[in-house]
Amino acid sequence: MAQIPFEPESRQAPASRQLWHSFPALREALPCAGLAELPTPVDSYPQLAADRCSALFVKRDDRIAPPYGGNKVRKLEFLLGHAVADSLDEVLTFGVAGSNHALATAVCAARTGLRSISILTPQTNSRYVASNLLMSLVAGAELHYYRSQRVADAGARFQVLRHRRRRGKAPMVIPGGGSSALGTVGFFNAALELAAQVEAGELPEPDFLYVALGTMGTVVGLQLGLRAAGLRTRIVAVRVVHENIANTVRMAALADTTLSLLRASGASLPAGLFDKLPVIVRHDSFGAKYAVFTEEGMAAIARAANHGLKLEGTYTGKTFAALLKDLDSGSLTDKTVLFWNTYNSFDLKPWIEGVDYRQLPETLHWYFENPVQRLDRLP
Ligand SMILES: *Cc1c(COP(=O)(O)O)cnc(C)c1O
Repeated sequence: MAQIPFEPESRQAPASRQLWHSFPALREALPCAGLAELPTPVDSYPQLAADRCSALFVKRDDRIAPPYGGNKVRKLEFLLGHAVADSLDEVLTFGVAGSNHALATAVCAARTGLRSISILTPQTNSRYVASNLLMSLVAGAELHYYRSQRVADAGARFQVLRHRRRRGKAPMVIPGGGSSALGTVGFFNAALELAAQVEAGELPEPDFLYVALGTMGTVVGLQLGLRAAGLRTRIVAVRVVHENIANTVRMAALADTTLSLLRASGASLPAGLFDKLPVIVRHDSFGAKYAVFTEEGMAAIARAANHGLKLEGTYTGKTFAALLKDLDSGSLTDKTVLFWNTYNSFDLKPWIEGVDYRQLPETLHWYFENPVQRLDRLP
C-alpha cells in the first residue's frame, strides 16, 4: 500500500497568504499549516461560455494540493495550523461514509504529521464512497462508523475520552465540513486571493460567483472576503444539502462567529460586512436528497466534461446545473461569471489500486458489496 508522503521537511511555513497582506496581525494570531499551493489558477472556458455570457472562468481549487485537492484544504490549513501550534497530535472529525471533508482531513493530517480519527455516518451509495474510504485507509485514518448522527455524536464523545486516556491529550475536534469560524478563515483568504487576481488583470471582476452550499464555510468565508476586498461580485450559493444544515439563520451565525474571530485576532473589519450585496441562495438544483444525483446534474457533468472540466454528482454537478440553467435562459448575457471548482480532480487510483477494502471496519464493507445509485452506474 502506498503511503501518503510524510513531509515535515519539504513542508515549510507558507511564504505568503493573501490575508497577511491586508491584515498582517493575522499571521501571528491564526497559524497556517501551509498545505495548499496558492494562488490556485483561474482558467477561462470560452467554448463553454459561447455567446451566453461575456466570459466564464473556473477557480481551480480542484488542483489545490496533491494528492487530494478540493475546497477542504483551505479550511484545514488553519484548522491543522491551530492543532500544531497547540501541540496536539490528533484530530477528530465527522462526515458521511464518503465524505470529502473526512478524507481531506485524513490526508492533510498525514501530511502534517498528525493522526486523524473520522466519525462516519450512512449515505446513499456511489462509486466515490468506496474510493474515498480506501484513500482514508491509505492516509492512515482511524475510522468509526455509526448508524445515525445521534449514535455518532455519542461515539465521538467516547472516542475523545478513549484517546485522551490513552495519549494524555484529547484530539482537536473539527466539525463536519470543517466549517468552524477558524476553518471559514481559509475562504476569507480565498476571496482576498481572488481579489488580487482581479487586481493583477488575470480576470475582470466577476459579476457572479457560482459555488456549492453545504456546511457553508466556503460561502461565508468568500462573502466576508469579497466584501472586505471591496469587490461587487454577487455569490450564487447553490444548496446541495438539506435545509436543516444550510439555511440563512445558520449562515448568519457562522458569519458572526467568523467575523468576531477575525476582529479578535487583530483584523480591523466593520460589523455588518456579511449583509452587503447579500448571498443569493438557490434551492432548485438540490433534488431529492444530499448525495443523491439528479438527471439535471448528470447532464451538467456531461456538458462540462466535453470541455475538459471534471465534476461530480453530489456538489459540483448540481452547482454547475444551476449555472447552465442561467446561461441557457439568457439571464447572464454580458456578465462575467466565475465557477468555483470545489472538488478534487487528482486521480486516486494509483494510491488505492490493490488496497483490500476488508481492512476497513466491517460495517463499511456494505459500500463495496452493494450496488451504487442508478445514476452512478457505468453506461
Ligand atoms: C464540502 C464540499 C462543498 C461544500 O462546501 P461547504 O463549505 O461545506 O459549504 C462543495 N464541494 C465539494 C466537492 C465539497 O466536498
